[in-house]
Amino acid sequence: MYYVPDDTKKAGYYECLACHERFLDVRIAPRLVCPYCGVEPDMELGPDDEMPDVKEDAFLIETVEGEDVERYDTLLSLAITGGDYLWI
Ligand SMILES: [Zn+2]
Repeated sequence: MYYVPDDTKKAGYYECLACHERFLDVRIAPRLVCPYCGVEPDMELGPDDEMPDVKEDAFLIETVEGEDVERYDTLLSLAITGGDYLWI
């Protein structure tokens, strides 16, 4: 497993509109902050601090469950390495 922990039963498959990265996340939501180009909100901010502009550019493409989680994880991992797995 690359994106999600082993034995993950359900995950969201996302694509970022800004940087076009595709990834899996155990969080299921219509939109997420992109882990590659987005900035997670700083939870340390007090109520008087200005809220940062959070861009949720990653959109849920589909929800994958069961064995598909591992299959998607493997496919996405291969995509990162260019699909060249002959060196293994
Ligand atoms: Zn992105």
